Amino acid sequence: MIIAVDGPSAAGKGTLARGLAKALGFHFLDTGSLYRAVGLMMLRHGKSLDDADSAAHFAAALDLSAIADHELRNEQVAQAASRISAYPRVRGNLLAFQRDFARKPPGAVLDGRDIGTVVCPDANLKFFVTAATDVRARRRFEELRRQGIATTYDEVLADVLARDERDATRATAPTVMADDAIMIDTSELTADEVLKAVLDVVKDLKP
Ligand code: C5P
Repeated sequence: MIIAVDGPSAAGKGTLARGLAKALGFHFLDTGSLYRAVGLMMLRHGKSLDDADSAAHFAAALDLSAIADHELRNEQVAQAASRISAYPRVRGNLLAFQRDFARKPPGAVLDGRDIGTVVCPDANLKFFVTAATDVRARRRFEELRRQGIATTYDEVLADVLARDERDATRATAPTVMADDAIMIDTSELTADEVLKAVLDVVKDLKP
């Protein structure tokens, strides 16, 4: 069984996807970390983010240990990920890994931007997780503060808006809701409430 969880940044899709995978005993893949790892390699090697060839090369030769790098979560890497993720060859080079992962028995939950539309259009269940922009920026701000990263709410809001705009308007695999996805607005819900609502949908589907 494949469950796709897509949506804009800081909407709560990672928390939901991780919780779902744990509750169901499924594998979990945060596909954003793949794009972040490529972005991090570009920054570390001093490459221009306009250099699509280098980005495609790092995506093809992706070192999965980079996914655990603590620097992956910082905002500079997030913006770099958003830039290089617009290159079709970067996306193409990461596709087989994601599709193979999705097929792992007994099931997998993948979160990202294009799981339900491009990576796994045949997923058994698709969720599109969203929340009001100010709620998402507030959550990301609190998360960064907990990690000891110095920033302001206004900076975070500007970063979230810039990234969402770029991700939603790029030509290849933009963040759009699949026609057959279930929309979940987490603005007024706790993480536990979101998980419970989604688990109820999954239980209805499972025989
Ligand atoms: O989900 P996360 O915020 O970690 O993703 C970082 C960036 O990676 C996103 O802003 C987006 O540009 C890109 N991404 C993508 N497709 C995915 C997952 C992430 O383009 N499936």
